[in-house]
Amino acid sequence: MKTESIDPVFYELFQKLVSEMTEIDRPKSIPKIEELLVEICKVLRVCKAVTRLYRNSREELEGGGETLCSRDTGEKCHEIHHVRVVTNVLSVATLTAYLADDQPPLTDEEFYFIDLVMRTTVSFLSRNRLTDMVEELAYYDDQGYRNVRLFMAETMKMAGSGKITDMAAINYNLRHFTLVNQQFGKSVGDDVLRNHFTMFEQLIGETGLVCRLGGDNFLSLFDKQKLDDVLNFVTEAKIPFQCSGGGTVTIHCSAGVYVVGENDRINEPGDILAKIITAFRVAQNGNVRIVFYNEDLIRKKQEAMRVQELFPLALKNEEFHVYYQPKVNILTGEVYGAEALCRWNKDGRVVPPFEFIPILEQTNDICKLDFYMLEYVCRHIRRWLDEGRKVVRISVNMSRRHMTDETLLDTILGIINWYSIPHELIEIELTETTTDVGFTDLKRVVSGLSEADICTSIDDFGMGYSSLNLLRGIPWKVLKVDRSFVPESEGDSDRVRSIMFKYVVGMAKDIGLECVVEGVETEKHLGILRENGCEYAQGYLFDKPLPVEEFETRLADGFIYDVDR
Ligand code: C2E
Ligand code: MG
Ligand code: MG
Repeated sequence: MKTESIDPVFYELFQKLVSEMTEIDRPKSIPKIEELLVEICKVLRVCKAVTRLYRNSREELEGGGETLCSRDTGEKCHEIHHVRVVTNVLSVATLTAYLADDQPPLTDEEFYFIDLVMRTTVSFLSRNRLTDMVEELAYYDDQGYRNVRLFMAETMKMAGSGKITDMAAINYNLRHFTLVNQQFGKSVGDDVLRNHFTMFEQLIGETGLVCRLGGDNFLSLFDKQKLDDVLNFVTEAKIPFQCSGGGTVTIHCSAGVYVVGENDRINEPGDILAKIITAFRVAQNGNVRIVFYNEDLIRKKQEAMRVQELFPLALKNEEFHVYYQPKVNILTGEVYGAEALCRWNKDGRVVPPFEFIPILEQTNDICKLDFYMLEYVCRHIRRWLDEGRKVVRISVNMSRRHMTDETLLDTILGIINWYSIPHELIEIELTETTTDVGFTDLKRVVSGLSEADICTSIDDFGMGYSSLNLLRGIPWKVLKVDRSFVPESEGDSDRVRSIMFKYVVGMAKDIGLECVVEGVETEKHLGILRENGCEYAQGYLFDKPLPVEEFETRLADGFIYDVDR
């Protein structure tokens, strides 16, 4: 075929077509390609052109696939050419051209041009399909959810266009979602997850993006103006499911949120991600619903990391000390027991528990500390017994973290028996739990301790949610009423608290539990305890937690607190 014979109109259109097909910006070039193909069809007298795309040859055999029609004039026509291409990932593309029945046959030149355009188009389509597949693999997970790579790519696109300062970002996870799977089955679980995702997508609209980080963890970037709606949705949402007869599940989330500030710089794709993940972890560890990212959070995270880093050596160097806070019989003034409380002697400063216990509770380090404390208490008791001193029952706090440890009981008994401590001299303080799973573990631990004649107490009673249920079916010996329950005055202003206090103390006595009130600070408090028939108190009115030497003076013969106030 000689070049001079090429129709100049076709030649120009074909050149434009090839240049659009090699354009990188696909969304822009595709409509132009479609227009050019229609023009070329007109020049070459093709009245209908049909493209078919199949994911594999089985789809082709079964007649599935996707059909795209470039041109159809609706005239009566017959097939004049068919091109079929199999790509190296085994997808198939075909293109068929038709000539109207009333048209004279094609010239050789026309047929050559048609063949050229069709082959170029089909190879463009199959390359396009490959790009789609690569994008799908890169930006979607195996269940079709958009993934974190897409989140990063979109973040950078928005940062580049300056739109990022209009946005907020969130990392959230569906709380107790395993319970939904356990209760309703996995297919309902999948349904709920998918519907939650779709509802979230609708809520944030087209300007937003939601991606899955894995499991029931999601990330989203959305317009700041939607923040309230998003927060409401993640706090509580009723999600319908269709399978297994249908129904609804109420879903709550834990979430970390970052609202991009006007002057915030987003330089790296991971900048926003790091912020929302940090806030989310704080929310999850603190059992809080929503935490907003701020610089303070970073400082706290660094402090936490520092404590975790220093802990092993501090434990080895025995920097943790046992302080004892006496428990007093308010009728006689006698010390009838004491609580062992931890203090960290760090570089000459006495660090209070709130600065390190919650951090150690994020990992199993707290368990190591609790056993260390129990061991120290046993050593002290052993010495007091050997020296022939008065000895009272000492309570040791055990974190909730121990509850799933099947060997807890053996470890506790191992330590106590190693020092030959009579079991009745040890009390274990445990805090409330809020889940059913936790309840079963708690019951197992308390029953085991009780069988070994070791006393157990519910610490901080009244702080949690399931206090009353906790009293049923678990063989506790002691109930420690939280200080927030102690009324400040007898007047009307504290009426509800006074009533609650009265009934809690009464109930404990009726059930046969020993009742200790924590945080007794004033003589007024003491009066209220007396009025309500409560015998035992712990609080600053008598003593703060004391170093062991000082506590020993409270065990001396004849020592008695002044309770006649
Ligand atoms: P807790 O077990 O409820 O201990 C009672 C806390 O109340 C102690 O705080 C005690 O100093 C404080 N307290 C006692 N009387 C008063 C009062 O009259 N007024 C006020 N405002 N507070 C009073 P502390 O020693 O700071 O310990 C705080 C918490 O840290 C403890 O609460 C316990 O949950 C935890 N903790 C301390 N040592 C250990 C430990 O060795 N292991 C574990 N797992 N937790 C520990
Ligand atoms: Mg305690
Ligand atoms: Mg307490």
